[in-house]
Amino acid sequence: MNQSQSIIDRYSQSVLGNYGRFPLVIESAREFEVFDVDGRRYLDMGFGIAVNCLGHGHPELSECLQNQLSKLDHVSNLYFFEEQVFLAEKITSLLSGGKVFFCNSGAEANEALIKLARKFGNASSRFEIITTTNSFHGRTLATIAATGQDKVKVGFGPSVQGFKHVPFNDIEALRKSITAQTCAILIEGVQGEGGLVPAAPEYIKGIQELCKQHNLLFLMDGVQCGMYRTGRFQSIQRILNLDENDHESLPSAISMAKSLGGGFPIGAIWIKDLHHELLGPGSHGTTYGGNPLTTAISSKIFEIIQRDKLDLNIIHLEAELRNNLETLRSEFPDVIDGITGLGFMTGIILNTDAKVFQSNQGVSASIQMCNKLHEQGLLLIPAGPKVVRFLPAYNIQKAQIEEAISILRKSIQLLLNQAANV
Ligand SMILES: *Cc1c(COP(=O)(O)O)cnc(C)c1O
Repeated sequence: MNQSQSIIDRYSQSVLGNYGRFPLVIESAREFEVFDVDGRRYLDMGFGIAVNCLGHGHPELSECLQNQLSKLDHVSNLYFFEEQVFLAEKITSLLSGGKVFFCNSGAEANEALIKLARKFGNASSRFEIITTTNSFHGRTLATIAATGQDKVKVGFGPSVQGFKHVPFNDIEALRKSITAQTCAILIEGVQGEGGLVPAAPEYIKGIQELCKQHNLLFLMDGVQCGMYRTGRFQSIQRILNLDENDHESLPSAISMAKSLGGGFPIGAIWIKDLHHELLGPGSHGTTYGGNPLTTAISSKIFEIIQRDKLDLNIIHLEAELRNNLETLRSEFPDVIDGITGLGFMTGIILNTDAKVFQSNQGVSASIQMCNKLHEQGLLLIPAGPKVVRFLPAYNIQKAQIEEAISILRKSIQLLLNQAANV
């Protein structure tokens, strides 16, 4: 028995089976590569689901962590410490004001957004938050209620009250769903788990208009699409092509996590100048939120992205990736239906009716594709049943894209050969 199988077997004995995992046992990772316990190498284009935004084991992050550990590891939020305010200043400087609350994950950040909305609506007895179908906002009770996908809710009722879902990118549906109880609208700038769908500029402008008209908070879940993932700090800045100093056009609040910590757990919400008085002393908190280790690491990530102009690298290589994927699409029109996403959140839409996916009926096309890619040494990530996404580190180069595309090409060819032999 190989090493991988024996570790997988141990999992089934003592780790809860709540995840559907691929049969890969990772031992180590360096830069853009991951190695399994049997010594196989994979080119990583998933990076922990949009987390390791500077690749694996970045020497400057490692140094920063060691220095911070020996200086100040953890104290509580009963006290002040400079690491936390330093990171908050970085975030507010990129959004021309506002204030920041720190937590530890994306779901917690969205919980904070939801509490902000409840507090905002409270004075006028409003509590309803409108979100969109196919959205994903996390796995806590309130965030599964916010999520517009039934699969995360089944068996966990009764649901937290006050959430309503309408189709994404449909401003009329949104307009019609607003009632006297509505206090906020929550969307992802680019739907991630829902299949990499960017919000249209007119949609965002329409939401801003509705929020003004009805005195609603406009909340954006930037957990996956934020932190430069689209080439700008927040996706709305890219989608609306906002000026760097434009505070006015930003939403009321934005949640962040994933790439914010580059592999170290951290979440945050940023609240616009108008609204941060809502969460005063005693209103919210968490033990680990904004602790010195994570905030030091996150500040270092900002420093490296800005110093090395990685935002420009993302814009430059996004075009490269898209062009390559379009070429693949023209080579395999029966397998690839389209290209979707924005920035370093770009993927292929698979034709689920293609013959190559028919022999394995119980398994989605995206998972079948990922399994084949794993066999050939590439990590990509499914987003729903038909999309496979690239979530590259911001410091990759053209060489990594070329290698990934060539593995993708070979994998599709192998699937086609297999289907032809059935
Ligand atoms: C991953 C994700 C979350 C949940 O973040 P966790 O850190 O897993 O709690 C929420 N919203 C979006 C858009 C995400 O992609």
